[in-house]
Amino acid sequence: MRSAHNPAAGKAIVRPGKPTPDLPFQPGKVAGRLVAWYGRAGRDLPWRMTRDPYRIWLSEIMLQQTTVAAVIPYYARFLKRFPTVQTLAAASLDEVISLWAGLGYYSRARNLHRTARQLVAQSDGVFPDNLAALTALPGIGRSTAGAILSIAFDIPAAILDGNVRRVLVRLFCWQQDPRSSIAEKQLWQWAEALTPANHPHDYAQAIMDLGATICTPRGPSCTDCPLQDICQSFRAGLASVLPITARKRKIPCRRQVALVVDNMGGYLLRQRPPEGFLGGLWEFPAMDLPDGQQPEQAAIRLLDDLGLRGPLGKIGKINHAYSHFKLEISVFKVAQETAGMIAEKGIFRRVPLEELAGLPLHGAHRKIFRQVEKE
Ligand code: SF4
Repeated sequence: MRSAHNPAAGKAIVRPGKPTPDLPFQPGKVAGRLVAWYGRAGRDLPWRMTRDPYRIWLSEIMLQQTTVAAVIPYYARFLKRFPTVQTLAAASLDEVISLWAGLGYYSRARNLHRTARQLVAQSDGVFPDNLAALTALPGIGRSTAGAILSIAFDIPAAILDGNVRRVLVRLFCWQQDPRSSIAEKQLWQWAEALTPANHPHDYAQAIMDLGATICTPRGPSCTDCPLQDICQSFRAGLASVLPITARKRKIPCRRQVALVVDNMGGYLLRQRPPEGFLGGLWEFPAMDLPDGQQPEQAAIRLLDDLGLRGPLGKIGKINHAYSHFKLEISVFKVAQETAGMIAEKGIFRRVPLEELAGLPLHGAHRKIFRQVEKE
């Protein structure tokens, strides 16, 4: 049982109203088969038994760039602490970021918080049920809005997340770069043409599930697929080579130094600015390694910039990978015999070891913390 009762179901439904492009099959076939398949084989996921737009929105945001397995415990923890949009709006950004720590792409957490506050201020926390109003909210793009409309409100709205994109590329045998602007336009057109007026709630989840479990990135299970006989790439023998991928660009490596300053029983930590990459998360003081400089020299300079002095000891190297660059951090420790003034001010804080585990450190610096714990 994967449907949840929806008071909106059965109301007059507004079709997106786009002209149907020439398709190699009847679009209704796709929805009919997918909904039937979903009834037999769809996954039971924690966010499937609700029509609460708050929960649907939360799950959709968490699932962006993140696997279902990784999201499930975060989703449960989040809902336990923030069961409603009002409780999320009332929380501090620090607390939201703390609960998000480890899930990555932290702008999602900041946007969740901003959107919750905006909704509470504008409409007492009631979610809008139209595309324009949803996409005007921070962090909600066209596809996420489509998912909220379909799943929470049973309003037909196209979705084009990563899974749906892959299914459409293969179903229509799109043999060009799937990330080009031409592809974007074409894929949205197909997504809209296939979105049914009836059961958009089940269809939305069915096509996302098909991409996640059958039409997977590597080795699609075409023999188990309800769309096999109409799938254009299966017919052409191209199912496992599509979507075409651009040649992988070399991922740059950034070299940094970081200091673990033991400042009279507490470690010196700083908070990153609230906006931007890893915004609001905590880290040990660190800096990029200037070209041609040895890590030890840069560490001395960083210590000096902090207004601190003391003998340096090497802890080791930490490697961490993000989607667009890699980090190699040379980590040094330094023990301070007098409390540095800097630790008391602004973005810096002196944190005892036993409290470090509870601080939302970003991934690379959590690795540093584990090294410190071992020592
Ligand atoms: S037949 Fe294969 S390639 Fe085509 S949609 Fe199904 S799983 Fe994907």
